[in-house]
Amino acid sequence: MRKTKIIATIGPRSSDYDMLKKMVSSGMDVVRLNFSHGDPEDHQAVFERIRSIAQESGRYIGIMIDLQGPKIRIGRFESGSIELKQGQRFIIDHKRQALGDQSGVSVDYDRLHLDVKVRDFLLLNDGLISVKVVAIEGTSVITECVVGGELSSSKGINVSGGGLSASALTEKDIQDLKFGCQLGADYIALSFVKNAQDIEQARHLIHQQGSDAGVIAKIERKEALEQLDSIIESSDGVMVARGDLALEIGDAQVPVVQKQIVQKARFHMKPVIIATQMMESMIINTAPTRAETSDVANAIIDGCDAVMLSAETAIGKHPHEVINVMAKVCLTVERSIWWDRDFKDQREESVREMSHASAIAVCAAQMALLKNISAVVSVTESGTTALHISRFRVHMPIFGVCGNLQGLGKMTLYRGVRPVYFDYNQLKNYELADRVLEKLVDEQYILSKDHVIMTKGDVIGQKGATNSIKVISLDQRHAL
Ligand code: PGA
Ligand code: MN
Repeated sequence: MRKTKIIATIGPRSSDYDMLKKMVSSGMDVVRLNFSHGDPEDHQAVFERIRSIAQESGRYIGIMIDLQGPKIRIGRFESGSIELKQGQRFIIDHKRQALGDQSGVSVDYDRLHLDVKVRDFLLLNDGLISVKVVAIEGTSVITECVVGGELSSSKGINVSGGGLSASALTEKDIQDLKFGCQLGADYIALSFVKNAQDIEQARHLIHQQGSDAGVIAKIERKEALEQLDSIIESSDGVMVARGDLALEIGDAQVPVVQKQIVQKARFHMKPVIIATQMMESMIINTAPTRAETSDVANAIIDGCDAVMLSAETAIGKHPHEVINVMAKVCLTVERSIWWDRDFKDQREESVREMSHASAIAVCAAQMALLKNISAVVSVTESGTTALHISRFRVHMPIFGVCGNLQGLGKMTLYRGVRPVYFDYNQLKNYELADRVLEKLVDEQYILSKDHVIMTKGDVIGQKGATNSIKVISLDQRHAL
């Protein structure tokens, strides 16, 4: 069983029923709907297709709504694009009415002139073009081109070194968040998060909608790195959003920061996603480059929960093959010696933290070292105990047995956790363990002679109630 989860972004090349079905059988665990593109109706159609494919295939597939956030874009050019030359003056002004030309262009952010300073570098078109601020006059940001190139309408603009003051949730994001909650999203990802308040604001809105969707903080601003611990603590997971992050902090910093974020997320018992350009060349090619294979492998060795595909599956030529290739890399690395690296320090830290779930998780990780144990079975209402156990590198599968869709949805992201639906709500406490084990044997997840570790609570169907852990030998149990 593969432990690392695969998230795939759905776009024009992957939104039809047959392709989605192929992607599910290739191993897609979580679907990402990118609200920077597409209409709500298109996303809704994909949402419904995925839910029905998941039901048919008996696997639970998580759905993550990714909000656009305050991504700043330049306006349109009269001629569609211009050729910006080194040394040329170029004025960016949100009040500009006319379409753009060689002299300048408008921008969809009304605070740009307030947020940037003379000598700041602005990066356009994913950093391929850069201009330097030489003066600010009223709302006009007057720049000089440092690295030129072709610049077309509506390209993104970033400030090297960060410093934009926009809030993480725009009006559009709030509408999209509400829509996502109504659809029943498992996770909502927030772009350009600055601090923990951004997360709390989103969570408040999610609860107002009567939803329990998890909040994923996309780490892609310099400011977020300064508040990393509080952001991680208030979120339900983080994404290392390397595309925009690289523009803010410089490409060379990203690999180091990636490792720090993964480590901190694991320490705080939160899932972590590595995103952007993981298998970029497979947008066109049928195989990844050696460097891309290594990048995916290293993300797994760092300890991430999930690796993410963006354009590769949204607009690429081989949406399901790229998932196959990624799954193979995951499985190979997981079998390797690197997988054996232990997280002893982390284990001790978790004990100190002493929440019930983490204490039980520490015990489970320790008991999993016993000979002959073949699985950890966690009967969990919210998925939290399964998450905590998955923070440790237990070698066997963790089955997160859950009777509600919200808990199952959350677990789709957790490394090493297989969400298993089981409606235990009408059961008596004394029969729960037997019924769960029978179900797992029936589904061939475990064998009737296996030894497993089981965690569960005395009160069925209640969040945060896990209070017991035991080793169960199935052969003896059936003899009873
Ligand atoms: P995006 O986020 O694809 O929504 O921009 C990911 C990133 O910036 O890496
Ligand atoms: Mn981004």
